[in-house]
Amino acid sequence: MTDTVSPEEIAQRPIEVPPHPQWPTLTPEEKEKLKDRIKVLLKERNAVLVAHYYTDGDLQDLADETGGCAADSLEMARFGSEQKASTLVVCGVRFMGETAKILNPEKKVLMPDLNATCSLDEGCPADPFSAFCDQHPDHTVVVYANTSAAVKARSDWMVTSGIALPVVKHLTEQGKKILWAPDKHLGRYVQKLTGADMIFWQGSCVVHEEFKSVALEGTRRLHPDAAVLVHPESPEEVIEQADVVGSTTALINAVASMDNEEFIVATDGGIFHKMKEMAPNKHLIEAPTAGEGATCQSCAHCPWMGMNSLFNLLEVLESGANEIHIDPETREKAVIPIKRMLDFAKEQGIGMKNKGNA
Ligand code: SF4
Repeated sequence: MTDTVSPEEIAQRPIEVPPHPQWPTLTPEEKEKLKDRIKVLLKERNAVLVAHYYTDGDLQDLADETGGCAADSLEMARFGSEQKASTLVVCGVRFMGETAKILNPEKKVLMPDLNATCSLDEGCPADPFSAFCDQHPDHTVVVYANTSAAVKARSDWMVTSGIALPVVKHLTEQGKKILWAPDKHLGRYVQKLTGADMIFWQGSCVVHEEFKSVALEGTRRLHPDAAVLVHPESPEEVIEQADVVGSTTALINAVASMDNEEFIVATDGGIFHKMKEMAPNKHLIEAPTAGEGATCQSCAHCPWMGMNSLFNLLEVLESGANEIHIDPETREKAVIPIKRMLDFAKEQGIGMKNKGNA
C-alpha cells in the first residue's frame, strides 16, 4: 500500500544517527604499510579510488596519490565515468556510490561500508515521496543529489548545490512550478534567490542543521576580519551571515582565492583537509555548533562519512565485498534526471568541477 503521509510528518520521524566510528590509532609506519597494501590492491583490481571532501584526510590523499580523486559527489561520479578502470571504489555515503553506479553501469562500484547513509536520503523514502509527487502533478520534480536511486527515478531533474540556482531559474523562466526535495534549507535558499514557485519536502542534514546562528554572531565578533563560508544546507539564519554561500568545491576555492587570512567555515569539518592543502597559511575556524539548541550530534562531522577508513577500504579491496547494485529498471529511470543536469551544465557552459555539490 502506498504511504501517503505528508513531508511534515516524515520530517518528524526520528532518523537513527549512529555514533561516530572510532578507528584504531596507527603509527606513521603502520599507516604507510596499510596505504602501500591498498595501492598494490588498487592496481591488481584495476580499481580507482574516489573520496569525498568530508571523508578522512588519509583517504583523500590516497585517492589523489593513486590517480583517483578527492572531490565533491558529482565530480566523483563524473571522474569515475572518465576512467578506464573496471572498478570504482567510492569513499563517501551510499547515494554517491549509487550515482556512480547509475552513471557507470558497466563498472563494479564498491564502498567501504554500505551502511554509510545520509539523513537527507533517509528522510526521503521513495514511496511517500512518490505519493507527494502524485499529489502535485503540475509540478516539475527537482531533487538534490543526496537521494536514493529510487527517488531520483521519480524525478525530472537532479541538481547539486552548485547548479541548483541556474536550473531553478531556467525552469522558472519556462513558467514551471517546482516540487523540491529533500533539503528544505537549500530549497528555501534557492527560492529566495530565484523567486521560484516552489513546494518543499521537509528534509535536513543532521550535520548542517546544527550550526547555530547566535553563536556564529559571537564567533564573528571575536574574528571580525574572518570571512564566513556557509554550505547552503545550513539553516537560513546561518546562511544570512555568510560572505560566501556555496558547494564544497566553491568553499574550498573561496579559501584559496580570497584575501582574508581567517575563515569561519560552516560545513562538515572534513573539508578542512583540502582547504589546508590549498591554502596552508590561512586560519580556519569551525563555525559553532554548541549553544542554544545544541544536541549530542553537535560536532560538525558527519557520522556516516566517518564510516570510511583505511581499514575497511583495505577489506573491500581484499574481498570485493560491498558492491553497489541497482535494479536495471530503476537505473534506467534514474539516469534521466542526472543526464539532464549534465547536459544543461554543458549547454550553459557551467563548469561542474567548480560548481560541485554536497
Ligand atoms: S554531511 Fe549531511 S548531507 Fe552530507 S552526507 Fe552527512 S548527513 Fe548527508
